Amino acid sequence: QLPGNSLSIVRAKKILKTVFGYDSFRDNQKEVISAILSGRDVFTSMPTGGGKSLCYQIPAVMFEGLTVVISPLIALMKDQVDDAVSKGIAASFLNSSLESKEITEIYARLHRNEIKLLYISPERLAIDGYLQWLQTLNISFFAIDEAHCLSEWGHDFRPDYLSLAQIRDAFPTVPLAGFTATATQQVQDDIIRILKMRDPLTVRASFNRKELYYEVRQKTEILSQIADFIKLHSEESGIVYRISRKDVEKTAAYLKTQGIKALYYHAGLSREERAKNQDLFNNDKADVIVATIAFGMGIDKSNIRYVIHGDLSKNMEGYYQETGRAGRDGLASDCIMFFGAGDVARQQYFIEQIEDPAEQEKAKASLNRIVRFATVQVCRRKQILEYFGEAHEGNCKSCDVCNNVSKKVEATQDARMILSAMARTNEGFGAGHIIDIVWGADTEKVRSNNHQALKTFSVGKDKPKKWWRGIVEEMIGQQIVYQDSERFNILRMTASGRKVLLGQELFYVSEATVATKKEIPGKNHGSDFL
Ligand code: ADP
Ligand code: ZN
Repeated sequence: QLPGNSLSIVRAKKILKTVFGYDSFRDNQKEVISAILSGRDVFTSMPTGGGKSLCYQIPAVMFEGLTVVISPLIALMKDQVDDAVSKGIAASFLNSSLESKEITEIYARLHRNEIKLLYISPERLAIDGYLQWLQTLNISFFAIDEAHCLSEWGHDFRPDYLSLAQIRDAFPTVPLAGFTATATQQVQDDIIRILKMRDPLTVRASFNRKELYYEVRQKTEILSQIADFIKLHSEESGIVYRISRKDVEKTAAYLKTQGIKALYYHAGLSREERAKNQDLFNNDKADVIVATIAFGMGIDKSNIRYVIHGDLSKNMEGYYQETGRAGRDGLASDCIMFFGAGDVARQQYFIEQIEDPAEQEKAKASLNRIVRFATVQVCRRKQILEYFGEAHEGNCKSCDVCNNVSKKVEATQDARMILSAMARTNEGFGAGHIIDIVWGADTEKVRSNNHQALKTFSVGKDKPKKWWRGIVEEMIGQQIVYQDSERFNILRMTASGRKVLLGQELFYVSEATVATKKEIPGKNHGSDFL
């Protein structure tokens, strides 16, 4: 049944205040809620912390029947339900953590219409006959949380989610809304198609945090580098992330010797200590808190002026979330990440300990992605937004690359070697093979193509292979070359690639690339390979 006029946004706003205690809607919430209340399907992509839950909780309170939320986060369901119940919403959940007695009790309450908001895990829904049972209830609205799990293009595909495809057929008149924090156009199209949404309102909130300035710095003497930054920002408060508990404690101790009021936080502390340090920080009783990534959920502080990463973040997602804790009040804030060669080696070591091969592959790909982010000379903001499927033209004027802060080193000659190898093989091979040619690897593929006879073969043998990989990554990042996804990812030249090859344009790499790949580019090479 479609809701009547009484379900207006005016009433929604009253509920926002009386039930949730907030004065105004955030960007996009009003639009999404109005559409849901009018019975329209909705697709929403919003960054984490953007306020997605409210978009289905307010309709849940207002609809006459039951709102069903499908969520894969079983571990969080109980907290979400407890939180809703504490606000006076009749909420409950059904997942594999419950005993059969509890489940029977919830079924009984559902049939007595005593529940407004019900969280269900997708694996429940996949059980035979479950949808038929749901049909015996008076359901007003379905919300699909973490909807990207539906798509094989997403980073977190879950086969159980495919059973959600049957919701529309089982409930042809009930509106559906899908929510996700990461969605490329491909994922969005999949979600809309698989859920069989009808003319959905699509709302994509921007992931751009304009108030944040991003910078990656070369790591040398990390403790004094961190201290120096903080001393320049006295009177301001910030977070320093370190990768290990030991480094967290070491850093906090060092900062204290420098007269900085530093606290620390990691999962090895007792619950009381953690709560105490978090409280002191939230109440401006310290300059800075040094923490592992375990510190995050409890941050209730809008005036964080900087987030420092003393080590390379694990992945782009984490980096975005962690830096996102700065500048919640909308005022300009700095995000500085220190990065050195040791960071990559250390994370590779951890990745090697992962037993599940699929998980290991994923971790490797995530690491490569953030290493690329930190090294290539491409607007940091553009890279972050593109990671989340949002286009950005670059030149944001608020990152080290755009502001020309980071030191660059010319490597035109090295780029020309790669380009020359590509030209001599008619742009018909992938990055790995082109690198093998320049580096002079003795592989089956080189021999079968007679590529050892090329003039470019092994012109770059005096540099490590990973240097060449770094150069190619940088060339891809700067769109000198690209991987043709329609032709087996073979490496192709762009117009500016041709200019570099002809010596009409120079090519630069970042200091970070030089430091982590351990080479000084462009020395002692003539151009006889061309
Ligand atoms: P998401 O699910 O998108 O990650 P949440 O729904 O958990 O985000 O919301 C993040 C935080 O923002 C929560 O603490 C929530 O209470 C708060 N919040 C949501 N909407 C509003 C609003 N309109 N005004 C103030 N705070 C809000
Ligand atoms: Zn930029």
